[in-house]
Amino acid sequence: MAHYVIVGGGLAAGTAVEKLRDEGFDGDLTVVAAEQHPPYQRPPLSKGFLAGEEGRDAVILHDAAWYEEKGVGLRTGVTATSLEPAGQSLALDDGSTLTYDALLLATGSSPRRLPLDGADLEGVRTLRTLDDSDALAAELRGGGRRLVLIGSGWIGMEVAATAKTLGNEVTVLERGRVPLEAALGEDMGAVFRDLHLEKGVDLRASVQVERIAGAGRVSGVFVDGEEIPADLVVIGVGAVPNVSLAERAGIDVDNGIVVDERLRTDASNIFAAGDVANAYHPVIQRHLRSEHWDNALKAGEVAARSMLGMPASHDSIPYFYTDQFDLGMELSGYPPLMKDARVVTRGDVATREFIAFWHDGTRIVGAMNVNVWDVQEQLQRLIRDAAPVTADALRDGSIALNELAP
Ligand code: FAD
Repeated sequence: MAHYVIVGGGLAAGTAVEKLRDEGFDGDLTVVAAEQHPPYQRPPLSKGFLAGEEGRDAVILHDAAWYEEKGVGLRTGVTATSLEPAGQSLALDDGSTLTYDALLLATGSSPRRLPLDGADLEGVRTLRTLDDSDALAAELRGGGRRLVLIGSGWIGMEVAATAKTLGNEVTVLERGRVPLEAALGEDMGAVFRDLHLEKGVDLRASVQVERIAGAGRVSGVFVDGEEIPADLVVIGVGAVPNVSLAERAGIDVDNGIVVDERLRTDASNIFAAGDVANAYHPVIQRHLRSEHWDNALKAGEVAARSMLGMPASHDSIPYFYTDQFDLGMELSGYPPLMKDARVVTRGDVATREFIAFWHDGTRIVGAMNVNVWDVQEQLQRLIRDAAPVTADALRDGSIALNELAP
């Protein structure tokens, strides 16, 4: 009987397991997951779960009993330590070795570390895992703490919003001109800056963090010569893909594990999906590594079909969402194409109810709806169809989205 093995305990691993069984794979299936939890999704960890509004059921995809019922060997708290593609075998840190017929690497990513003095003091944290979120929640839920966030990417901004809503004093330190500049550009980053400033977050842009101070426990962060007092510091400066297992096995790695549109690595019967995979996108004809929930969800399914030899192509438009204070947003688009595009808006940016389009001069390569709902399907269709549309038509709210490029 065939044995398929999945390494990882995140959303890509979880959806791959589900899809393999849904598609009728009845061979042996083993999941090797370093964390102590069954596969789970991370978005609530900086939002509802951190705030105490959502419980573990919003995070964990299926409990251990589900895996048992599906005949899946779920090995939590176990790390895969080395992989030998030639012998189709995988060594685990509990001393055992698995042989496989097909293997999926869904090892995700880890918080980028900052080589800062004081980064190892007690009270200096990163946020990636359920346990990280539990620990942070224990400090923030009572309110009244002074939290300093280093970095204003998605996780930093979401934690800032949640912590502020819970009644903490929040400072965000950012090296760039506005938060989220790399993802959204300056104008749209300014929308998030203004939101946080209005809600009372002390957001400081264009600053250089010098060191974290404290004796045993953190007491402050030095920025451009000034000390900002802190009870707690969260470093959120991006993530790096967990490629070491693949790299040591001689698999092609370049900004993640390099895979084709069927999510196959260059080693036979080894696939990769989720944050760790740098996958060829057949529409834009280049490789993309996406660190988003929707990517992990869809890639897990595509990988399962690909492992089964079924038609499979990871060709969806990258999609992301966030919730911060009273702002909800969805964003679809191809980041490499959005970089050089011009942003055109319709609706009211000042009241934060609008759609922003990334227009490359001819067509839409990205679109973000802010507090405007049920439009993603149409926005994705506009991006997918790549039909010519003018910037004036995009700005004109009297032209319905489905009439923009008939
Ligand atoms: P991961 O979720 O990182 O899972 C990988 C797992 O593999 C980890 O548990 C790891 O321990 C395990 N592993 C690694 N190496 C080994 C090994 N050798 N052996 C065994 N196990 C191993 N995206 C959005 O689109 N919207 C959001 O609002 C959003 N919010 C987020 C909030 C937070 C706090 C975080 C951290 C991420 C958020 N994301 C969001 C991103 C999204 O959660 C990720 O893109 C997604 O988790 C990627 O899933 P994955 O399965 O590829 O990897």
